[in-house]
Amino acid sequence: MCGIVGFIGQEKIVYDIMSGLLTLQHRGQDSAGIVTFKDIFHMKKGLGLVNEVFNEKHMEYLCGNIGLGHVRYTTHGTGDVLNAQPIATNYPFGISMVHNGNVTNFKKMNKALYNDYHVLPTSSNDLEILLYTFAAELKSKDLAKIKVSDIFDAVKRTQEKIEGAYAVISIIANYGLLAFMDPNGIRPLILGKKVTKNGIVYGLASESVTFNHLGYELIRNLMPGEIIFIDKNNKVHSTIGYAKKQHFCSFEYIYFAREDAVFYDKNVAGRRVRMGNLIAKQIKEAGLSPDVVIDVPASGYFAASGLAESLGIPYHRGLVKSNYIGRSFIAPKQSERENIVKQKLNPIKKAIDGKKVVVVDDSIVRGTTSKRIVQILKDAGAKAVYFVSAAPPVTNPCVYGIDMSVKTELIASNLNVPEICKFIGADALFYLKPEDLKHLFKELTVCDACFTGNYPSGDKEQVLQDFEEEKQKMR
Ligand code: SF4
Repeated sequence: MCGIVGFIGQEKIVYDIMSGLLTLQHRGQDSAGIVTFKDIFHMKKGLGLVNEVFNEKHMEYLCGNIGLGHVRYTTHGTGDVLNAQPIATNYPFGISMVHNGNVTNFKKMNKALYNDYHVLPTSSNDLEILLYTFAAELKSKDLAKIKVSDIFDAVKRTQEKIEGAYAVISIIANYGLLAFMDPNGIRPLILGKKVTKNGIVYGLASESVTFNHLGYELIRNLMPGEIIFIDKNNKVHSTIGYAKKQHFCSFEYIYFAREDAVFYDKNVAGRRVRMGNLIAKQIKEAGLSPDVVIDVPASGYFAASGLAESLGIPYHRGLVKSNYIGRSFIAPKQSERENIVKQKLNPIKKAIDGKKVVVVDDSIVRGTTSKRIVQILKDAGAKAVYFVSAAPPVTNPCVYGIDMSVKTELIASNLNVPEICKFIGADALFYLKPEDLKHLFKELTVCDACFTGNYPSGDKEQVLQDFEEEKQKMR
């Protein structure tokens, strides 16, 4: 999973790119990069957080009125700087690109690039597949006079060939800013604008929060298969390229996006509160009478508050998290994950001691974090611990860019609910029911493949085999 931004229409655009990346830092902490264009591409990328990679000198160097930014969380290829984004090429002429998502037919397209176009990618980043496929399609046009219809046609052919999830932003040197979505619209991309005394500045970003912070007006989410091209005169052209049924990632609402984000007019915090409301029904039906609801900070908060509201009992902060330690499910080794949980969560004994506690987390992936949390609460004196997952059981890996785990490591793919409850040591365990998830998104078709195994894009068996192989390489 990554965060991307792109802007056009104002000199020193790097300041908006930099501020935009800071609002998306939660989407990736492995590396950060910016490219701008003024006569030539100006690029800086490096490993680490946005504030660690860029300094004042870089802001001077990254000149121009058009640019892209990227924060990376590694889901394909290695985490080294060679795979950091943006990537730029001079084939067939200047194009630079960033993306958020995961190309699932990477292996096949890698071969096709060489066999069909004699292009050899230089990194293991799947962005190169998108970049060079698009570039090769554009090369077949009249390069002396590229029309908007040529760009749209090259993107459509790219979308027809490349499977998986991808939201892409690109600079076509001396032409303008391009953005396009995969045919199912799995990953988010939002268009915004700002009116200045010198004209309109357009922006594209993974989350609406970027535009809230920068004072831009939100225009809309891009649709499945949509292509937008903003030319150098700031005229916006848009069309639908190769599109299939929408499958927007439901995990963006459950866990990944910031709580104040809005996708397709649906507020993330509001959906999380509703998840809590719906799970409260199950707790009542089980005849339990908990004393207090607490959350696993920070992504369990809104579901916990909805649950407490529906149960009519207080919500209290019962666990404190250190903000300087990474997300545990991102750590590659089991021992590292366990250490992270130990270091990052500390109980507030007064809120827990002698009480029957409902603890709400966004999801249960491997179960090891949940087990540790139950132990922390019991050590702090909880009389009973009822564990709640705001998401349904995660039974299948995400092949579209949220790096949960391989199937064999997902606890819900190996154990049923009572067995998981026993494993984590809770007195009761509740998941959001899959039918409640469907109900929550009844006006928006969402991807739920990690809960159902119904992958919307690609040949399932091949995709899973390639995914497992890639994960082995990354270990
Ligand atoms: Fe999102 Fe799950 Fe679909 Fe991945 S498989 S895109 S995490 S809903």
